[in-house]
Amino acid sequence: MEAITHFFSGIFVMAILQHFIPTTWLVLVLLVPLGILLHFFIDAIVFITFHTRTPRLNDKIWVAWHGVIIIGSVLVAIYFTFFMPYLWALIVSNIPDLYDWVIMRTAFAIKKRKLSTNPDLLPHYFMHYWIGRLRAKCFSRLPDWTEKHRGIITELVIWTVCFIVWIAVA
Ligand SMILES: [Zn+2]
Repeated sequence: MEAITHFFSGIFVMAILQHFIPTTWLVLVLLVPLGILLHFFIDAIVFITFHTRTPRLNDKIWVAWHGVIIIGSVLVAIYFTFFMPYLWALIVSNIPDLYDWVIMRTAFAIKKRKLSTNPDLLPHYFMHYWIGRLRAKCFSRLPDWTEKHRGIITELVIWTVCFIVWIAVA
């Protein structure tokens, strides 16, 4: 899923934790497993989001949506780092991507080892291998909207829910 969606999920969990738990260090500690769990859930339902396998540069909606995602991710990251103290939430909610795509992929690239783009074929110490297993076990009945524009709605709904909860409890 897109970084901005994970950002919003992290902010959502941190806001709820802060609402119920007055101890800052405890909030920061609890945020780690909860943020990772939510990343697993969000990635596991990726099939009901607009996530084309290859870039569609001739599709105006694809281009516009990716503009929104990229600019939105940067703006959300800047705002919630410098104007709201949610940096830890932004980092934690992206740990599986940082670990798999940044650390592990770089290590594989340095060793010149090939990696599959199919999560099911990744080594088992990749977090997205386990996200793939979760998807197969719990969410295999979801429709495949990855190539359909209507998948954008799913992501917008997630953003809206996170945003409303953040407004309500922060
Ligand atoms: Zn991910």
